[in-house]
Amino acid sequence: MTKSAMITLCGRPNVGKSTLTNALVGEKVAIVSNKPQTTRNRITAIVNRGDTQYVLLDTPGLHKPRSRLGDYMVKAAKGTLKEVDVVLWLVEPRAKLTEEDKAIIGLLKEVKTPVIVVINKIDKVKKAEILPVIDLYAHAGEFHEIIPVSARTGDGVGLLMEEVFRLLPEGEPFYDEDMVTTQTEREISAEIIREKALRLLQEEVPHGIAVTIETMKMRKRKGKGDICDIDASIVCEKETHKRIIIGKDGAMLRRIGTDARKDIENMLQRQVNLKLWVKVRRDWKDDDTQMRSFGYDARKL
Ligand code: GDP
Ligand code: MG
Repeated sequence: MTKSAMITLCGRPNVGKSTLTNALVGEKVAIVSNKPQTTRNRITAIVNRGDTQYVLLDTPGLHKPRSRLGDYMVKAAKGTLKEVDVVLWLVEPRAKLTEEDKAIIGLLKEVKTPVIVVINKIDKVKKAEILPVIDLYAHAGEFHEIIPVSARTGDGVGLLMEEVFRLLPEGEPFYDEDMVTTQTEREISAEIIREKALRLLQEEVPHGIAVTIETMKMRKRKGKGDICDIDASIVCEKETHKRIIIGKDGAMLRRIGTDARKDIENMLQRQVNLKLWVKVRRDWKDDDTQMRSFGYDARKL
C-alpha cells in the first residue's frame, strides 16, 4: 500500500450515504458499522484498490450538538473536514436550502479541503429539475465540483470516482520511513477498537467509553514483514463497567482485541501486536480536563 485517501461522506439521514458507499466500494467493504453516532468519526468502509487505500468516514458531528460531548463533536467534525483529502456532501435533488444546509455550508467554507457536492437520487426527478439544483449550489458556496448521481442506479457514480481520484495527493507514503505511525492511523485504530468494544458489549456499557492509543509503532523484523506494536486503553466510567469489559477470565477483552486486531491489520496491511488495558475515569464525558487527556481536546480542533 503506497497511498491512502481519506474521504468523508456527509449529509443528513436518508440522503443516500450508505447506498452511495456501497455503490463506490462494490462488495469490498472491510468494515461496516451498524451503530449510528457511536463514534466521533465513524469509519464506514476501507477499500483497497491497486496501491491506494480509500478510507471512508462518516462525520456525525455535522448533526445538531446536544451534550458537551456533542459540542465537542461539532468541532471534531471540523477537524475531520480539515484532515481528509476530499469531502463528499450528499444532498437531495431539491432547489431549496434548509437552515441546516446553510449551517453546513458555513462550516465547509472554513476548511480548505475540496468539497464535492453530490446531488443524489436524480433518478427521482426530471432532467430539467436538476439544473436549478446545480445552479443553487454553485452560488451557495465554493465547491470544487457539483456532481449529480443516482446511488441507486449507478448513474454518475463513475464520474464521481474519477473526480475523487483526481483530487488525491500524489504518491503520499502510507507511513513514514522512520516507521512512526501517522496521527490518522492512530485515530482510526482507536475508532476500530471502540467500535468493536461497543458492538461486543451490546448495550451493557452504553457510550461511556473512550479509547486512547498509548503507543503505536511500526517495527522492522529480520526476514519477516514489518509488525505494528500497539498499546491501547479502553476508558470507562465505573468499576462495574470495567469488569464487564474485561469479562470472565478476560474473555471479553480478548474478543475485543482479536476483532480489532484483524481490522487494524487489514487497514495497515501489516501484522499487528495489540495490547489492551481497561481504565476507570469517573464522569470523563462531562469533564473538560479528562476529555482532553483522552484526546478529545476541543481547544486543539
Ligand atoms: P443514509 O441514511 O444517508 O445512509 O441513506 P440510505 O443510503 O440508507 O438511503 C435512504 C433511502 O434512500 C433508501 O431507501 C435508499 O434506497 C434510498 N436511496 C438512496 N440513494 C438513492 C437514489 O439514488 N435514488 C433513489 N430513488 N433512492 C435512493
Ligand atoms: Mg446510512
